[in-house]
Amino acid sequence: MDVYGLLGDPVEHSLSPPMHNAGFAELGLDATYVTFSPTDVAAAIDGAQTLGIAGLNVTIPFKETVLDLVVPDDQASRIGAVNTIDLTQEPPTGHNTDIDGVQRAFEHHEVSLAGQRAVVIGAGGAARAVAHALVDAGATIELYNRTVSNAESLAAEVGAHAVGGLDDSTVTAAIGAADILVNATSVGMDSAESPVPPAAIHSELVVMDVVYQPRETRLLQTARQQGAQTIDGAWMLLFQGVSAFERWTGQAAPVDTMNAALRAQL
Ligand code: NAP
Repeated sequence: MDVYGLLGDPVEHSLSPPMHNAGFAELGLDATYVTFSPTDVAAAIDGAQTLGIAGLNVTIPFKETVLDLVVPDDQASRIGAVNTIDLTQEPPTGHNTDIDGVQRAFEHHEVSLAGQRAVVIGAGGAARAVAHALVDAGATIELYNRTVSNAESLAAEVGAHAVGGLDDSTVTAAIGAADILVNATSVGMDSAESPVPPAAIHSELVVMDVVYQPRETRLLQTARQQGAQTIDGAWMLLFQGVSAFERWTGQAAPVDTMNAALRAQL
């Protein structure tokens, strides 16, 4: 049996095992996916390779540490974080499927990114993946964040066209001229807050939220009510997993099955 796993802390409530295990079962693969919370992540990766574990996902708090423990590919190096390891390579290789996850979430919803004007709210890890994904796909982006200096750093890294804080008038004007809005902050997670003024949302927008719990955040609820197209955070989560699954197995992932298994947990 091929064993895959997730390194992180905490991992008890991870949605990845049911998603990947449903994919393995659908394709009739003799494989399983389990979770690990190692005290020593370097020893864990060595041990996993010795034991013949085929692949690992990596989540908080190890995504950045692991960069120095594997051979990162271009995307992982650029984004400064590894979320997928291929242990069948010697030495193991590190990848970041979050960029692919964002792009495939838009593709799945038939949203073309090339030439679009996007406003991204946030400047943390999720925002970094979103910003790189949008720019790589040919969109122009504006970045707004509570801490302006964090937005400025990310904006310089990806070549954003505008950057600023979260004051209502600036953000409202930017959204008014945008085609795409992405919330890449944690605002809206387990709360009824919106990261931007609800009145800024208009019907011509495509609105993505990286928050997946709740599935319909206040932002997405407002967007739906305004007639905008919405993409919830579970789509990014699904497609980063799909991308890892395909890298490990070399097969097209059963997306519908993995999506159903993921959403059954939310
Ligand atoms: P992070 O690196 O800690 O960044 C957090 C971001 O949220 C920063 O931009 C921070 O602004 C902003 N923020 C936090 N509290 C805020 C508040 N009260 N008001 C305004 N801005 C606030 O976290 P992360 O890893 O990017 O994760 C962010 C969210 O994305 C989480 O909810 C996480 O679950 C979700 N996520 C989803 C996926 C997916 O696949 N769907 C993947 C990764 C993460 P400052 O810079 O001012 O602190």
